[in-house]
Amino acid sequence: MVSTSSNGNAHRVKVLVLGSGPAGLAAALYAARAELAPVVLSGIQLGGQAALTYAVENYPGFPEGVGGAELGELFKKQAEHFGAKVEFETANEVDLSARPFKVTGDNSKYLADTIIVATGASSNQLGVRGENELTGRGVSYCATCDGWFFKDKKVIIVGGGDSALEEGLFITRYASSVTIVHRREELRASPLLQKRAAEHPKVDFIWSTIVTEVLGSDKVEAVRLKNVKTGEERILETDGIFIFIGHTPNTAMFKGQLEMDALGYLKVDDRMQTSQPGVFAGGEVADPHFRQVVTSAGMGAAAAIQATRFLEEHES
Ligand SMILES: Cc1cc2nc3c(=O)[nH]c(=O)nc-3n(C[C@H](O)[C@H](O)[C@H](O)COP(=O)(O)OP(=O)(O)OC[C@H]3O[C@@H](n4cnc5c(N)ncnc54)[C@H](O)[C@@H]3O)c2cc1C
Repeated sequence: MVSTSSNGNAHRVKVLVLGSGPAGLAAALYAARAELAPVVLSGIQLGGQAALTYAVENYPGFPEGVGGAELGELFKKQAEHFGAKVEFETANEVDLSARPFKVTGDNSKYLADTIIVATGASSNQLGVRGENELTGRGVSYCATCDGWFFKDKKVIIVGGGDSALEEGLFITRYASSVTIVHRREELRASPLLQKRAAEHPKVDFIWSTIVTEVLGSDKVEAVRLKNVKTGEERILETDGIFIFIGHTPNTAMFKGQLEMDALGYLKVDDRMQTSQPGVFAGGEVADPHFRQVVTSAGMGAAAAIQATRFLEEHES
């Protein structure tokens, strides 16, 4: 049972968690076990970015790896088991000027004694002509979601980090060929992934090259490429383009209310406290550096421990 009480039409909660990725659900687990009956606003992506990937092989406790979506479900189940309530709604507006903090979601309003921000980050776009128009028609940011549609087709992957290689390797199950287009001459991805990609018969690389346009009338037919060293342009036919070029933190809603760095990541101290006492943050929303399931979950847990201590100090 959730111990939210109504105040007008606003639900009063001790701990409101924004986001249902690894950070949000770990925070919910800890707050629930502290008997604070946390409410989680899931946003549109239950399980967060981790739920977009086919397999997570580096989260401890799963020697064979675990499906990304399955891991999210397990996180949710565990938090709910101890009394967290997960609501399928997005927070659209916050007023953090005084406690209780006010949050307006899709369906409800909340008054929260503490907030844990775990809204994570979203995929960056290339920002080139054709990208928006053909998203969902050959342009994708999620191999697990869309890889299946490219059975026996040619795809290109844009990016050179872990996500680009992991997802590129995943798509080799379906696609006839996977071309990784990277703007530099070397990859940022881990050595193990680089080795797997280099040895895979379906994978090849185009170096020092950017995509300048996605071409096609109602589905992707080709991309325009430009070599950043020579300036030479060419058209490469492809059926799909998967883009993995980093992330932007989901913090627009907090502008002017919480301190952020130049890239928009929330600033937290070593106790996960934001610039507003009583508002804590964890996971990728406050972490441009580690960006893993395990580190995000750890930060979410730490934020909940501090929220619990904050409530003990302020409400006795
Ligand atoms: C394709 C891909 C593969 C990956 N593979 C791995 C891997 O194998 N191993 C690994 O350790 N890491 C992997 N990662 C990274 C890992 O998924 C992230 O580090 C982790 O999910 C970050 O967790 P988070 O909870 O901080 O944020 P996110 O996972 O980004 O979750 C953010 C949550 O906030 C919600 N949200 C956003 N805005 C709002 C709002 N306004 N109101 C309410 N909710 C909101 C979203 O719906 C989501 O639930 C991968 C990432 C990607 C994209």
